[in-house]
Amino acid sequence: MITVENLCKSFRTEEVETIALSNVSMNIEEGEFVAIMGPSGCGKSTLLNILGLLDNPTSGKYTLGGRVVSALKERQRTEVRKGEIGFVFQSFNLIDELNVEENIELPLTYLNIPKKERKEKVRQMMQRMNITHRAKHFPHQLSGGQQQRVAIARAVVFGPKLILADEPTGNLDSKNGAEVMRLLAELNQEGTTIVMVTHNEHDAAIAHRTIKIFDGKIVK
Ligand code: ADP
Ligand code: MG
Repeated sequence: MITVENLCKSFRTEEVETIALSNVSMNIEEGEFVAIMGPSGCGKSTLLNILGLLDNPTSGKYTLGGRVVSALKERQRTEVRKGEIGFVFQSFNLIDELNVEENIELPLTYLNIPKKERKEKVRQMMQRMNITHRAKHFPHQLSGGQQQRVAIARAVVFGPKLILADEPTGNLDSKNGAEVMRLLAELNQEGTTIVMVTHNEHDAAIAHRTIKIFDGKIVK
């Protein structure tokens, strides 16, 4: 599903150049659950952002589902991202001005799904994530665990084949973290490919395998 070859990413700010990724090559098969681990600042989020088409590599080739996506223009990248990839972040990243229902509905609106179908999908997703009783609440009225369940609902409501999660349990206590991991494992068992950055050995143990990164490179 994912092939990256010699992926490099550097950031240039004023006089300083940071090499965040150097010559990263790897394969992730459809249906896998892969954990990415490594010390802070080693390039994990940079890699996940490139896999999620939130950012472009400086050089290298990225093939997603048989299509080369590293050379796409911004507009096409956005289209592929919003049509095919669900993203979950450590800090939830919900829209403060929208309630639970509206946050979950957003990706469906982007894809021009008819209203009746949107409402039904949102209803089902809220039920699955056990958040129906909070449908009209805003993010600041929710606990961290609830916010992350809404964020997962928003990431999966349009049926993406790939979920990318950047430290999804990083801001949660162990009970809510375990619930988020249970939901991700369940989605994976239903066929969704998952790539997750984590600091947590217990969370990584739920994945099929771990890719370790150090200083912008994959290490054994
Ligand atoms: P991790 O997620 O593993 O903690 P990151 O991928 O966020 O690490 O960062 C890797 C390196 O790239 C770090 O040195 C970081 O400071 C740098 N970096 C990340 N994003 C930017 C950016 N937008 N501009 C400049 N430097 C960045
Ligand atoms: Mg990070």
